Amino acid sequence: MTEADIRNELCIYCGQGQSRFCYAAESIKGEAFSLFYCLKCGTYFLSPRPDDRQLERYYDEAYYGSQTTKFIPAVEKVLDFFRQHRARHVCRFVRAPARVLDVGCGSGRFLKYLIERGYEGYGVELAGRAAERAAEVPGIHLKTGSLEKGDYPADFFDAVCLWHVFEHLPQPRKAVEIIHSVLKPDGFLFLSMPNIQSWQARLFRGRWLHLDPPRHLVFFSPEGLVRVLGEQGFQLCRRTTFSLEQNVFGIQQSLLNCICRKRELLLEFLKGNLSYTTGYPKGLLRFQQISALLTSPLFVLAAALESLFGAGGTMEMVFRKTDRPIVEGDRPAYV
Ligand SMILES: [Zn+2]
Repeated sequence: MTEADIRNELCIYCGQGQSRFCYAAESIKGEAFSLFYCLKCGTYFLSPRPDDRQLERYYDEAYYGSQTTKFIPAVEKVLDFFRQHRARHVCRFVRAPARVLDVGCGSGRFLKYLIERGYEGYGVELAGRAAERAAEVPGIHLKTGSLEKGDYPADFFDAVCLWHVFEHLPQPRKAVEIIHSVLKPDGFLFLSMPNIQSWQARLFRGRWLHLDPPRHLVFFSPEGLVRVLGEQGFQLCRRTTFSLEQNVFGIQQSLLNCICRKRELLLEFLKGNLSYTTGYPKGLLRFQQISALLTSPLFVLAAALESLFGAGGTMEMVFRKTDRPIVEGDRPAYV
């Protein structure tokens, strides 16, 4: 690290102003951002921080999908398989009947599977197409907007889930404080997010799919996430960096980002985002889609290999609420 790399960018997590420049990245709209590492708390964050108006353009209809689902039907079927898998995962830790909050619940389909299994499903989702879809899930308790202090009573939930949502939050530390307060003693926090120290992140840097600037604002290494959440009263129960759903396509799309002039072309194609893929030959996109499908076994092996070293593209962790901060030396061995 040279002196030239040290900057005064304010950390999104702790608010301190001593950080190290990591690398630059371009968004799908061609805007320039940079990744920084906070020298105080070890959080990685995006800068410049997008303002609300800028973010609105990135969370438009093209992001959520204008149809009844976000992705094309074949992809939605695959995603439903993973949503059911997540529901079964939660069931292993928390027995029904129990209250589960899904922050950033999207279409609410993960909660739908929990509700069908006898759980009380609560969801929070920003206004828009996803929230409209979630509102149609029978039995769901939906809050449209962001998670705020006072939305729910203290010690209310048996589990809170953030499936690839934490990295989107403009005030992640405040969100963790609220979650700690609304969870019952010994309640569970399920959290998945990109692993900034993964092999794929270090290889592709600014072209990495899961960097997704500027929708993703905050990143951690697995150890960094365990440390900051530990300081806020969460004890790690389980962690993995293997995800068939996220990590295989993470490598494939990042590779494509290195050879195509626009990033995330295949992903946007699978979302049916025609305005983004206009001007790019449809035959080539179909070729990308078929190639990705045919080469999947190879990339499943690559994803398995990186996760064997704890360096998979995304991480999924389960924490338990404690009534005191966890300090170094308190930590359990990873299970
Ligand atoms: Zn910090």
